[in-house]
This record gives sequence, C-alpha cells and structure tokens, in this order.
Amino acid sequence: MRGTAGWIGIAVLCGVTLAMEAWPASAQVVKSGPASCPAVALTYDLCPVRTASGFDRELIDFLIEHQVPATFFMSGRWMAKHEAEVKQLLAVPFFEIGTHGEVHAHLPMHELAEQQQEIMGPVRHLKTKYGRPATLFRPPYGEYNDVTVEAVKALGLRFILWNIESGDPDPTLSAEAILTRVQKRLKPGSVIVLHANGKGKHTREVTESLAGQLLPGKGLTAMTVSDLLRCTQSTTLPAP
Ligand SMILES: [Zn+2]
Repeated sequence: MRGTAGWIGIAVLCGVTLAMEAWPASAQVVKSGPASCPAVALTYDLCPVRTASGFDRELIDFLIEHQVPATFFMSGRWMAKHEAEVKQLLAVPFFEIGTHGEVHAHLPMHELAEQQQEIMGPVRHLKTKYGRPATLFRPPYGEYNDVTVEAVKALGLRFILWNIESGDPDPTLSAEAILTRVQKRLKPGSVIVLHANGKGKHTREVTESLAGQLLPGKGLTAMTVSDLLRCTQSTTLPAP
C-alpha cells in the first residue's frame, strides 16, 4: 500500500513539475517593465461606478494638454455608459487602451467559461463597435488564479498588473500621502495603478506632480505600458 501511495505521490509531483516547467504562470503576469528602461507607466483603471460621472474630466484634460502618455484599462460596464469618453480616449495618439473585465467580477470565484466571458466582453465591444483591437488586460481588483492566466494567454492578451499601487481611491489618503507612497517605490520600469473614473479625489493632483517629475532630462519619463515593455533604452539617471 505504501509503495502504491508513494508512486502516485511522485506521479502527481512530476505532473506539477512538468506543468510548471512547460508554463510558468507567474512569467505570464506583467508587473513592471525592464529595470534598465528610464521610464515608468502611468495606468488608469476605468472600473464601473454606480453613482457620480465615472469620468475624471480634469485628469484627462491635464494628460492631453501636457501630452503625457498613459494607459487606460476600461471595463465593459463603464464603456456602456461612456460612449463619448471612450471615443475621446481612443482618439488620443499617446494613450493606450486595455480592458478590465465586463462587469468587474472577482475572477477567481468563477469557472473558466465565465472568466473568459468576463475577460472578452470589453475586448469584443472595442473591436465591433470601435474597430479597435485591445491586447492588454488587467483583472478587476488585481485578482486572478491559474485559470485566469491560462484564459488570458489563450485569448491572445497580455496580462498587466502593476508594481506600485497608488491607493488613490482611498478617501482617507491625502494627495501628499499618495505621492509619498508612489515616490518611495518609483524606479525604472515601474507600472503605477491609478483610477480615471472619478473615484480618486486626488488623482489629478497626484498625476500633475508625477508628470512634473517624469520629463525628459529628469531621469524618468512616462510611457504607455506597451512602449515600456518594448523599451530597450538604458537607464541614464542623473547623478544624485
Ligand atoms: Zn477596477
């Protein structure tokens, strides 16, 4: 009996090992760009909101006026209520558009087919209604499991998380607190998560401060996520 149990144990272990070697799930999840690149990505989630406008107009105006490259992750439910805003964001050449699930579901609570449906909702919508491909995907709440990673890969999307959580939707955080938190972690290749759905009281203010620091000649610049991921420049940070 012991021998059989041992054999099964090894077989299971080998199966896991082989699966991990063939497909390391963690490698599919992007949290940052190359540390050799003198740039960071400002990313803004457009999660659905029940009340309020759901769109931080002042923030977007600032980014456009100052030509700050940014990446937006749109949820399907948000898109359904913001047709004009979707068109506006799609029209800005230095903005990149990714998706953020259909209804902002907790993906790990769902089976594969449901996860696929949640992931593909806004991707299909962007394609059919706006004629735009969207290959970047960010899971709602940053929550995922191996099924999510597998589904995203099979659907031909890139799985984008972040390595700096600004905490901007937290109403108890001041602009200074958010900035301090971000600046402490800021380094070449960073991907910062913020929100453009109006949930962040200080998001525009924080963005203005960050954009003031992310200028050519100041060490780090802002890039879209895709540009950051293909960045091959080397870091030329000024001497402290
Ligand atoms: Zn979200």
